[in-house]
Amino acid sequence: MGKNTVLNAVLPEVPDLHYSVSVTTRAPRPGEVHGRDYFFVTDEEFDEMIRTGRLLEWAEFVGRRYGTPRDYIERCLDEGLTVIMDIDIQGARQIRERMKEAILVFLWPPSMQELSRRIHGRGQDSQDAITRRLSWARQELEAVTEYDYVIVNDDLEKAAAELRAIIIAERCRVRRTDFRQLAAKLGTSADELRL
Ligand code: 5GP
Repeated sequence: MGKNTVLNAVLPEVPDLHYSVSVTTRAPRPGEVHGRDYFFVTDEEFDEMIRTGRLLEWAEFVGRRYGTPRDYIERCLDEGLTVIMDIDIQGARQIRERMKEAILVFLWPPSMQELSRRIHGRGQDSQDAITRRLSWARQELEAVTEYDYVIVNDDLEKAAAELRAIIIAERCRVRRTDFRQLAAKLGTSADELRL
């Protein structure tokens, strides 16, 4: 059970929640769909996206590049929607820097053995890539204290319930609340309530 499994369990259940599809220069794995799992692009296309400021963040991971398209995120946020991204620690740090309102959630692997099993289990990567992915994963664990929340990814139902709860609770934060809308529900105005 990888990260996507948890996201796929949560996405259909939380209203107004959208997944940010990243751009990557790595090759698609069997079953991956362009535009759903990733936008698969060439190195030249990726360079062009950086050059024209179309990536909100990007990072190199095990010799390939990954980035978050800025457009989609901005459009969702403008419409008051929630966007969820699946990005590494390098990307998370850039997002934290650029978007103070972002919430970082760390999905903690159930065990090192399970993490290793998952990385090997895909049967796609070269031995070298597997070794690098594992050593990078170990380093990422040390960065957990930079995140706002941690979810142990050992049980799909539990992990999905925790992620749902975090999203819902974060939406109820006073500082994220639109008091004009709230006051309108009472048939009054935010001004009248001195909010
Ligand atoms: P994979 O190749 O296994 O799909 O992803 C490798 C790593 O890249 C994962 O840790 C994933 O979270 C990260 N990743 C995927 N998309 C992005 C992105 O847009 N930006 C960053 N910084 N990392 C990403």
